[in-house]
Amino acid sequence: MIGVVAATASGRTAATALSAAWPGEIQVFTGEKASDDLREAWRICESVVSFLAVGATVRVLAPLLGHKTTDPAVVCVDEGMQFAVALLGGHHGANELATRVSGVLGCAPVVTTASDAVGRTPLDTLGADLGFTVENPWLLAQVGAAVLSGVPYEVHDHGSWPLPAMPDNPRPDGSGPEVLIRIDDRIATPAYSPELIYRPPSLIVGVGSARGVSAREVGELIDTALEGLSPLSVRCVATVDLKADEEGILQAAAERGWEVVTYPAQVLATVEVPNPSEIVRAEVGTPSVAEAAALHAARSQGRGGDLVVQKRKSANATVAVARLSPKGRLAIIGLGPGARDLLTPRAVHSLQRASVVVGLDQYVDQIRDLLRPGTRVIESGLGQEEERARSAVREAERGHAVALIGSGDAGVYAMASPALEFASETIDVDGVPGITAAVAASNLLGAPLGHDHAYISLSDLHTPWEVIERRVRAVAEGDFTVCFYNPRSKARDWQLSAALAILAGHRPSDTPVGFVRNATRPDQAMTLTTLGEADPAWVNQVDMFTVVLVGSSRSHTIAGRFVTPRGYQWSSS
Ligand code: SAH
Repeated sequence: MIGVVAATASGRTAATALSAAWPGEIQVFTGEKASDDLREAWRICESVVSFLAVGATVRVLAPLLGHKTTDPAVVCVDEGMQFAVALLGGHHGANELATRVSGVLGCAPVVTTASDAVGRTPLDTLGADLGFTVENPWLLAQVGAAVLSGVPYEVHDHGSWPLPAMPDNPRPDGSGPEVLIRIDDRIATPAYSPELIYRPPSLIVGVGSARGVSAREVGELIDTALEGLSPLSVRCVATVDLKADEEGILQAAAERGWEVVTYPAQVLATVEVPNPSEIVRAEVGTPSVAEAAALHAARSQGRGGDLVVQKRKSANATVAVARLSPKGRLAIIGLGPGARDLLTPRAVHSLQRASVVVGLDQYVDQIRDLLRPGTRVIESGLGQEEERARSAVREAERGHAVALIGSGDAGVYAMASPALEFASETIDVDGVPGITAAVAASNLLGAPLGHDHAYISLSDLHTPWEVIERRVRAVAEGDFTVCFYNPRSKARDWQLSAALAILAGHRPSDTPVGFVRNATRPDQAMTLTTLGEADPAWVNQVDMFTVVLVGSSRSHTIAGRFVTPRGYQWSSS
């Protein structure tokens, strides 16, 4: 819950705006005294938005401060709604909350945590979205400061996790680093001082047992099996469905804070294991429970998995441990039509989460300044779509965090479909929507998309003209507003006129036609005309940076704006 505290009328209006924007997430405090409200919000909420001055907020909260990992995140917004200041807990929600609040109230987020301010991946949150646990968090501040000041350091990632860009800073003479960041599930004596250790959720403990086994027996067997491996890296306990209610297993897992997953015996029976048992097969329907469940969980939650500890037995239990290789990630990101403020905050976050960015060179140029230091860029020229899609998928399949970028929305006549045609289930895919050209253009022209509309690409590079023409006829007949993408190029110079002629046969000559070139980019240009007057000289200037919107028979030009009515009378009551 986000607690909101306001003392003035404008603060209360803003608090109402936040409640409306995030229903169910906000609790507004409206007591007699704002300072009491703030203390109460701090006590019961995960984060707090204070519409009191920074000074007042600090004075009230100072005596209550504990540790940044347990205190609520606090954002302060000024009376003029100009700034949302991430005041406390920057890496524990405040930086993100300041950005979200700014999105609703139209103010600027103020973020002062050092690594964010210089564009580096902050160590506090490294791998947090992958489930990492920092084993020695007391070293975070020291190691973070060392990394920022350019001390020679290295990142040793034992499992190849899809991390954000983390450039190594090795010593020029090749000798060992001064500071080490280690991502590892194995317990080892630190080789460097300081050595910051992250425990990734890489281990799965497979368990089998006789009915009525004690939690103590299961627990002790697990603990000995994990010798040399960190319990902080245990992702879950896996067993067969039959054991879903086995108290001893459930309790041993719960005591260690681990979740239990179960699989049907017939699924486990298909997993090849080093130590199968015919006796177990006769009893349970699978020759292996512990080894098979651990391996199956690792392979279904990762891109693969292997046993690190083979079956161990006690009188009534069996345990085995598997390690998964983590899945890579592919974010397919729409950059919007061009203007920087139409690039979504989520797109920026995803770009900065990636360690590899793949895209057309001109799109990479559009966002290069946003990338974290150390991001690997794979850029190529026009016409190499298939190669770009393949290399993005290949990098993700190697386990990297990849961002594949496209203008507008990356799923509209762009890179998402070719990439997903090549992608297997061994990678996680996350689509980040962008504002597509038709939407950017329609907002410049007026409201052409107020009723049903269709997008048609006039490029006959991959689609035969007969198919395109059939679709243009269908939308002409169906009386849709039409947005033409890829309308005209040097080599394809007659298709747009042919398409406009088909539409002119089905709708009045005063139907609006809008041409928008480079929508929201510095050299934006637009023309609003009609089907009857669409001047061939103008049509001949249309190029691949233009979208063309043609109204339905109900669209009009009103006060110089292109409007397609909603299609029914608005009731006045
Ligand atoms: N994925 C993109 C479309 C790629 S197809 C999107 O969602 O917008 C390329 C075509 O999109 C161009 O030929 C042009 O017709 C159109 N286009 C893309 N950006 C544009 C912009 N800023 N202004 C006008 N048209 C644009």
